[in-house]
Amino acid sequence: MNIHEYQAKALLRDYGLPVSRGIPAFTVDEAVKAAKDMGGPLWVVKSQIHAGGRGKGKFKELPADAKGGVRLAKSVDEVKAFAKEMLGHTLVTVQTGPAGKQVNRLYIEDGSDIARELYLSALVDRATGSVGFVVSTEGGMDIETVAHDTPEKIHTFHVDPAAGYQPYVGRNIAYALGLEGKQIKQAVKLVGDLYRAFVEKDMAMLEINPLIVSKEGDLRVLDAKVNFDSNALFRHPEIVALRDETEEDAKEIEASKYDLAYIALDGTIGCMVNGAGLAMATLDIIQLYGESPANFLDVGGGASEEKVTAAFKIITSDPQVKGILVNIFGGIMKCDIIARGVLAAVTAVGLKVPLVVRLTGTNEELGKQIIRESGLNVIPADNLDDAAQKIVKAVRGA
Ligand code: GDP
Ligand code: MG
Repeated sequence: MNIHEYQAKALLRDYGLPVSRGIPAFTVDEAVKAAKDMGGPLWVVKSQIHAGGRGKGKFKELPADAKGGVRLAKSVDEVKAFAKEMLGHTLVTVQTGPAGKQVNRLYIEDGSDIARELYLSALVDRATGSVGFVVSTEGGMDIETVAHDTPEKIHTFHVDPAAGYQPYVGRNIAYALGLEGKQIKQAVKLVGDLYRAFVEKDMAMLEINPLIVSKEGDLRVLDAKVNFDSNALFRHPEIVALRDETEEDAKEIEASKYDLAYIALDGTIGCMVNGAGLAMATLDIIQLYGESPANFLDVGGGASEEKVTAAFKIITSDPQVKGILVNIFGGIMKCDIIARGVLAAVTAVGLKVPLVVRLTGTNEELGKQIIRESGLNVIPADNLDDAAQKIVKAVRGA
C-alpha cells in the first residue's frame, strides 16, 4: 500500500526526522490559507499523487511548456495561481503512464535553499535477509538512470537484523554521500530514525529523493515515498486509515474485499487461475503466443462459489478485456465450484467476449458437465498450451 508524500512526512516527523513545515490543501482556498499561515518568503506547491517524477511531469490540460507538478512560489498570489493550475487536473509523469493521475490534494511546504541533492532509500533485501540502504550522491534525478549510466555512484549498506542499527552504518553512508562536519552526526541519527520507522511500520520500501544538504549545511528530507507491506497492514490500523482509494485501481479494491490476489495489467486477455505459480505460467504462455494478459488473478486454494463469481465480475468489468481464459487445476479447489461460479457470474453480468475454459483435477468431469449443460458459448481446452492458443486465436478473430 502506498501513501501520499505529506502523509509520509508526517509519519517521519513523528520519528524525529528533519522535514520542512507543511500543510496539506484540498482546495485553492485552503492552499492560500496555508501559504498565509506559513508566512513564506518561499513556498513549494506540491501535487500529491501516488507517483514520482512530479517535478518533471506535465499537466494534460496545460500547454506543453507549462511548469510541472512541483513548483516554487515566491508570493501568496503565486501559490494561488499554481494551486488553480494543479487541482482537478491530470498530471502525467514517467511513473503514472500516459493516462496520468488527477491531482486532488496539494501539499504547501516551506521552501528550502538547496546546496546538494542526495538519494537515499531503504528496502527489504531478500538476498541478505536484511534491510538495505541504497544511497547516491546523484539525488533529485531518476535513480534508474543513475543505476544504468553510472552504477559506480550507487552504494548499498545493510543493517544486521540481529544487532539492529549501529552508528557505523550511518557513518559509512555519510562518507559515501560525501558529508562532512555536523552532517555526519546528523546522518547517523537520520539513518537510525529511518530504520526504526521502516521496521516498526512494516515498510517494504522507503525512498527519499532528494535528501538535501541545505544552504545552512543541514540534512533534510525533501521528498518521501513509502510503500507498506500489505501482509502486515492488519497490525497497523493507523496506516490503513491513510489509504486514498482514489489513487488505486477500482478493480483491485473490489478484489481485496473478497481476499482475491488480483493485479490489473494492461493487456487484453482476462485470466482466472488458481495458484500463484500457475497464474504466472498462464501469463507467460499468453505472452508466448503473442498477446498480453489483462490481469494476474489467483482465486486461491479454497475459493467459494461467491468468490469465483466476484472474480469473474471483476474481470468482465474491465473494458480492455477482449477474451477470458479460465485455467484451473482442481486440487483443494474443485472444478465444479469454479464452473458454478463462472455460470453465476455470466448469468448476472452476461458474456460479451470469448471464454476459454481449461479444467483439470478434482471433479473435472462434473465441472465440464455443468459448463456443457449451461448452453454457454464456452471454448473447452485440454491443457495449458491448447488453452492459451485458443484464447489468443479467439481474441484475434474478434
Ligand atoms: P518528484 O519530482 O515527484 O520526485 O518531487 P520532489 O519532491 O522530489 O521535487 C522535485 C524537485 O523539486 C526536487 O528534486 C527539487 O529539485 C525541487 N524542490 C522540491 N522542494 C524544493 C524546495 O523546498 N526548494 C527548492 N529550491 N527546490 C525544491
Ligand atoms: Mg522526488
